[in-house]
Amino acid sequence: MGLRPNLLTRRTAGVASTTLALLLSTAAVGVVPAASAFSAAPTEACAEPADVHSDARVKAGAHAKHEPNELTAKETREREADLAAALRERANFRAGAGAAALATVTIPVVVHVIQEDTTRAGGNIPDSMINSQISVLNQAYSGATGGAATAFSFQLQKINRVTNPAWFPIVQGSSAERSMKTSLREGGKNTLNIYLGELSDDLLGWATFPKRRLDSMDGVVVLTESLPGGTATNYNQGDTGTHEVGHWLNLYHTFQGGCSGSGDGVSDTPAEASPAYQCPTGRDTCTATGLDPITNFMDYTYDSCMYQFTAGQAARMLTAWNAYRAA
Ligand SMILES: [Zn+2]
Repeated sequence: MGLRPNLLTRRTAGVASTTLALLLSTAAVGVVPAASAFSAAPTEACAEPADVHSDARVKAGAHAKHEPNELTAKETREREADLAAALRERANFRAGAGAAALATVTIPVVVHVIQEDTTRAGGNIPDSMINSQISVLNQAYSGATGGAATAFSFQLQKINRVTNPAWFPIVQGSSAERSMKTSLREGGKNTLNIYLGELSDDLLGWATFPKRRLDSMDGVVVLTESLPGGTATNYNQGDTGTHEVGHWLNLYHTFQGGCSGSGDGVSDTPAEASPAYQCPTGRDTCTATGLDPITNFMDYTYDSCMYQFTAGQAARMLTAWNAYRAA
């Protein structure tokens, strides 16, 4: 079974229902020693815009089409080169300032609830769902659900409710998304801004990867009804939030790069040829050692199926934090 040992009760609610499969997008990378390790990575066939820096999770109904933000091999190479450069910069800065890299991190969270009106269908969810989402993040990132403990915990600072039909649904890549984030984003590079709303294109969520220079697009967009207790069948236990925050902390999908090359850049997530949907126990799509990591938060399986990060992913996230988001 792929159920999280500690969360069977919470999970059971979401398991029974239908066959909505989940497509999380294709950007997965973990602990990577150097940018050059990516030079031989295989390429996704589709052409992507040059400035792709985010990644989306989509429902299974959208199987046939590419995700808007899949990363190509070239894009992952560029990201890894940037990470290496950011690490060099930070090492020089810290040496000068006598500052040490952080080992534990509490992330301030600002949640923006984008509503069309005051109805539930219009995006008006109770605070209790948002508090539950923060709990899910803290459980997932502490290792309490069965995976490795990471350095991260999350502290809700503010719930900002915004009624604006022009931003509902939130359309991925639109000028309205840009205007929404430009108007609403709060805090520095270390502040996690989560935007909740109805989303375009059957998407469950998307996120930006960290960058050396903060821009107003930085943050995570999540389908309101994917929060714990929401109506998104099989995706209503809060793990879209967990997954998207993983990207925000620099993780790629476990299936990034397929079976060859450096994959997701994390050595302890076995290579995987393609996204896994639902909960295909025993799936093994690459000849390399290890079954597909279908229970990893960075795959595309049902919320009930995913329950862990690996130690390699935890290390990659902390490295990226100290390179990009630490003060
Ligand atoms: Zn994703």
